[in-house]
Amino acid sequence: MAQPKRRTSKSKRRMRQAHTLQKSLTATSTCPQCGAPTQPHRVCPSCGSYRGRQVLTVAVDE
Ligand SMILES: [Zn+2]
Repeated sequence: MAQPKRRTSKSKRRMRQAHTLQKSLTATSTCPQCGAPTQPHRVCPSCGSYRGRQVLTVAVDE
């Protein structure tokens, strides 16, 4: 079996993994109704709308 000549340094390994780390962050988009950051393909947590339609009634804390 072929073996690597040198052990990959922490720096080189982390440089490679930086890409993966960035991808694993949660994707965000903005709500067209209220402009709040939301996850794509999900009901907006702040106003309860999805695709320009009111889906949920969001309780407002006072
Ligand atoms: Zn919204």
